[in-house]
Parts: sequence; structure tokens; C-alpha cells
Amino acid sequence: MNNGHKPVGILAIQGDFSMHAKMLDAIKAPWKLVKHSADLDAVSGLIMPGGESTTMLKLFELEGIGKAIKEFAAQGKPIYGTCAGAILLAKEVLNPPQEKLGLIDIAIERNAYGRQIDSSIQPGECPDLADHPVEMVFIRAPIIRRVGKGVRVLGRCGNLPVLVEQGNVMAGTFHPELTDDQSVHKYFISKLSRD
Ligand code: GLN
Repeated sequence: MNNGHKPVGILAIQGDFSMHAKMLDAIKAPWKLVKHSADLDAVSGLIMPGGESTTMLKLFELEGIGKAIKEFAAQGKPIYGTCAGAILLAKEVLNPPQEKLGLIDIAIERNAYGRQIDSSIQPGECPDLADHPVEMVFIRAPIIRRVGKGVRVLGRCGNLPVLVEQGNVMAGTFHPELTDDQSVHKYFISKLSRD
């Protein structure tokens, strides 16, 4: 699925970035790991993986990468955050409040299903992306508690919004990269502009 754009960046400072790489290989989308701010120049979009948002925030400060991601987003380049990545992208973080990039108008509550033992796999729906139930893996996942006016809900699990989009920024609380379901990544790739 290389449609003539630069590779997709995968933020690789902490977390499950290698599983996103595996998924992008499966859909034949070229990718490049992003470890430093300058790496963003070589990519057309950015996936921010799950992991531990507090640790990533500390590394952001060391690398100056938070500021670079904001500039990247301001250029209209697509960004997709999963789980910890979604927490970092949110405008408001609860339980407890913490620093964030504020690139998508949602309030998100960390560890909202409980502890590691309350992690689960559930079927959900992403009607605009997939005509089948989507297997959703939640690992110490957050819950999106508020969705701003300009934010479109792309996926739900039960009554909860689990995949949302505001312009070029997409945030999901589950981990499609840990399943065989390619729908979400294919959708993200379709948002990349040609260069
Ligand atoms: N609980 C983690 C956090 O708050 C997110 C978990 C995940 O990314 N799977 O950052």
C-alpha cells in the first residue's frame, strides 16, 4: 500500500512500537521508526504506540519531541495514537491529570477499566472502517469520557467511544496491532497525503 508517500513514522521511544511495524508490514505500508525530533522530517504520518504515557512524557522532555509532534500535527500530517499514545494526544487527561499534547478535543481517563488484571478482549464496531465486528484488545486501557464537538466517533465498544478522529488526529483506546484485524491501520494509511 505504498501510494507514493514517505514512510509512516512509528514513535519508538517506549512501548509496543514493534507490533505496529509488524502490522504495517502485513499491509505493505513502508514505515520508519521515529526516535528523535529530526526523524519526523522523513515521514508522512505518525503512529504513537501504547506503553506507559508517564514514561513517554519524561522522554519527550529529554528529546524535545513533544514540540516537534505538535508542529508535525500543525502541518496537517496524520497522527494515530493507541492507548498511551491516545492519552498523550488528548486535550484533557484524568486520573490523574498530566501533561499532554492537546491535539484532539477529548477527555481521557487513564487506567479506567482497572488494573492489568482487568485487561480484556472484546468485540467492537467501527462501521465506517470495517463491515465486521472488530476484535478490540484493552490493556490497562483508558476510557474516553468526553468527546468534543469537532470530534468524530469512528469506533465503539459497548456504549463507549474507543476510536475517535478530529481532522488529521486519530486516537484509539484499544490495540489493533495485537490482532489480525487490519481495518484501523488501513484507514490510517488512507489518510496520508501523497508527496
Ligand atoms: N495505562 C497506560 C498509561 O496510562 C496505558 C496502557 C497502554 O498503553 N496499553 O499510559
